Amino acid sequence: MKCPYCSGENCVDEYIIKLYISSIKRFISRKNTPFEGAPSVGEVGNCKKTGDKIWYCPHCNTLIKSFNSEKIIIKCSNCNKEITLPATNRTVC
Ligand SMILES: [Zn+2]
Ligand SMILES: [Zn+2]
Repeated sequence: MKCPYCSGENCVDEYIIKLYISSIKRFISRKNTPFEGAPSVGEVGNCKKTGDKIWYCPHCNTLIKSFNSEKIIIKCSNCNKEITLPATNRTVC
């Protein structure tokens, strides 16, 4: 899959994407989730050239650039659907 930063094919390990997809499927099959309908974005690696974090959107199955946000629910820069940020990206007040 193409890296959103350098367009290289080797920045993200396909195996990590597969792991993420299987964990998201478990998430969706669970009912009492805190953020209904919005699965958390996948942190699937870092660009080998820029070192930036690469995210994976479960809605459009695309690699997207990461960005900082104070909100927990963000919109995918590609498909505009809601995804939640992983806990490590949240700003603690
Ligand atoms: Zn890259
Ligand atoms: Zn998307």
